[in-house]
Amino acid sequence: MTPADVSLPTDFIREIIEDDLKTNKHAGRVATRFPPEPNGYLHIGHAKSICLNFGIAAQYKGTCNLRMDDTDPAGESLEYVDSIIDDVHWLGFDWADRLFYASDYFEQLYQFAVQLIKAGKAYVDDLSADEIRERRGTLTEPGKESPYRNRSIEENLDLFTRMRAGEFEDGARVLRARIDMASPNIVMRDPVIYRIKRAPHFRTGDQWVVYPMYDFAHCLSDSIERITHSICTLEFENNRPLYDWIVERLIAEDRPQQIEFARLNLSYTILSKRRLIQLVEQNYVTGWDDPRMPTVAGMRRRGYTPEAIRAFCARIGVAKNDNLVDIALLEACVRDDLNERAPRVMAVLRPLRVVIDNYPEGQAEEFESANHPQDPAKGARKVPFSKVLYIEQDDFDENPPKKYKRLGPGREVRLRNAYVIRCVSVAKDEQTGKVVEVHCTYDPETRNGPPADGRKVEGVIHWVSASHAMPAEVRSYDRLFQVADPAGVEDDFTNYLNPGSLETLTAFVEPSLSSAPPGSRYQFERLGYFCVDSKDSSLGRLVFNRIVSLRDSWSKIGGKEKA
Ligand code: ATP
Ligand code: MG
Repeated sequence: MTPADVSLPTDFIREIIEDDLKTNKHAGRVATRFPPEPNGYLHIGHAKSICLNFGIAAQYKGTCNLRMDDTDPAGESLEYVDSIIDDVHWLGFDWADRLFYASDYFEQLYQFAVQLIKAGKAYVDDLSADEIRERRGTLTEPGKESPYRNRSIEENLDLFTRMRAGEFEDGARVLRARIDMASPNIVMRDPVIYRIKRAPHFRTGDQWVVYPMYDFAHCLSDSIERITHSICTLEFENNRPLYDWIVERLIAEDRPQQIEFARLNLSYTILSKRRLIQLVEQNYVTGWDDPRMPTVAGMRRRGYTPEAIRAFCARIGVAKNDNLVDIALLEACVRDDLNERAPRVMAVLRPLRVVIDNYPEGQAEEFESANHPQDPAKGARKVPFSKVLYIEQDDFDENPPKKYKRLGPGREVRLRNAYVIRCVSVAKDEQTGKVVEVHCTYDPETRNGPPADGRKVEGVIHWVSASHAMPAEVRSYDRLFQVADPAGVEDDFTNYLNPGSLETLTAFVEPSLSSAPPGSRYQFERLGYFCVDSKDSSLGRLVFNRIVSLRDSWSKIGGKEKA
């Protein structure tokens, strides 16, 4: 299954593919892949690449493989593989039986390297990593050839075999492609293609002590899988000549073509696995799936929908130059999607007690309330009303400003889906002078309509019945970083974490939510969209994550969100 909404308008990659289809370049095939390294969880940047690769395959009736790019044992694990599989599925994409592992190609890759040696195109170098670096040259100066560059093919084959057999220490020798130490492109100055590294691999164990480098493994993995268009991010542009060099020497026909696009950068967000790992390991967040994380797992737990993420990826499109996308755009996509699908309910996050003086003690009644204002098919529920209610502290002001439409002394408001009430007095805390209880009267004639005498009541506020409401923990999230470009700061990026990124509130929610299933999403009227936490919520102890506020309050207030 591939979602229909991923077929996109055209972009420069699709233009290349359409040209290739016209000229029958790959016999009409379109084969892409998404190649994550299982050394961390996927983030929203990966989602862009996933939507692009799977989207293209769907649009041109091709295929998209999921390939674990697991050629560097350090930091890779099965936990990450499982999370990747889960996340790509959740995003709505499927690779049928085409889940591959680069580590399954280790023997083939090794044989490709042997082939290069036999062609005089690779050699074993005894220089240390530092010595190789020193001789690499600069943008303006050519590199220096290694004294080992002109070894005989026999000697190279012998040494490479012994590298594999484990005869040498880590780092003692490497295999390098024999290209051109004077190339203007530093990548082409005899790049290392194999190194000795004694590290257990999560799939191949200690079977191998030599591992191929990314540039060697990636283009050949693409070739083995007969990928036609190998789409990657811009930082690999300089590596494309090497990609082509290797493939031209080892692959006879139908070679894959590398195409680079701009990676996603998102404001107020870090999109680098290395740094995300740091946030997890140093406990700045509760885990990879912390709802403040830009990971797919985090966004999913927070309550983002796959549809919203795909819509975002479609909106940002694909371009050739790097830019910074405003996170408000992602939030707007989430809001648009939830506006359609989320049922409306009432919850009070910062409760203020309201007593309806003229409502009989012990009495209760129910109000039929629509679950969605534009979609009657979503049905209705009954919301109980009684003498004591909670309203939002913000919805009462003892000295209201002129245009205030909510509750204040002597003022009237409509309780959403229920009566009009008028504030008649307040009770204050003797010590602090803070209003702790508001006394009102209700107008029984307003149950089903406006006041009979024609007086206007403009304000509408939400409420819950105190004796019926369920307490719930509400986790109100704000941006994880205080600065728009936390990846670009000079000092430690963790200095720019937003100390107010999580606020935990004890709220009251209407009783219809008592059996809300984990992961279900609601609009709390006038407040925002909220999701039952999939990990910490239970029947007796509801926990909600705030997915997103109803409006973008950041851009208006210039950086500091008001709840
Ligand atoms: P990171 O920089 O976060 O460590 P990575 O590029 O090392 O990411 P990979 O697992 O190698 O992570 O990425 C898998 C695929 O996702 C690659 O094709 C990569 O180009 C793409 N990708 C990674 N980050 C982004 C991003 N921010 N925007 C778009 N595509 C991305
Ligand atoms: Mg990478």
